Amino acid sequence: MLRPHHVMCAIGWAGHGYSPAFTRNMNDIVEHRLRADPETPVAFTSGADSICAPCPHRRGAGCDMGGKIAALDRRHAEALDVPPGARMSWGDAQSRAIDRLQPDDLDRLCAGCQWLDYGLCKAALARLQK
Ligand code: SF4
Repeated sequence: MLRPHHVMCAIGWAGHGYSPAFTRNMNDIVEHRLRADPETPVAFTSGADSICAPCPHRRGAGCDMGGKIAALDRRHAEALDVPPGARMSWGDAQSRAIDRLQPDDLDRLCAGCQWLDYGLCKAALARLQK
């Protein structure tokens, strides 16, 4: 399961998370599964996903930053055309970001995210588009 905005988070992942447990889980998913095998199947959800599992902000299937995260998901789902319930390979999901987004689109799509100003996600998308 993957929240729509986590497509770009996985593309931009550079090893810095909210907590040691979050970072370990994110490395397992992004480095060892998604990046290791683009055929890895992903299913989109509007609730907590595999990446959220150890997040200190998770509250059951929800999030203590609820409205902000729901808005991130709405914007990314629309931009990538990945509604909840959609299924595809990780490679297809990543290709949607590469084909449909420009790095500066993240200023709008990711507004409110604490990681945006570091520029790592924009840089990662730009590298994939070269
Ligand atoms: S800026 Fe935040 S929400 Fe956007 S891709 Fe990066 S980590 Fe994800």
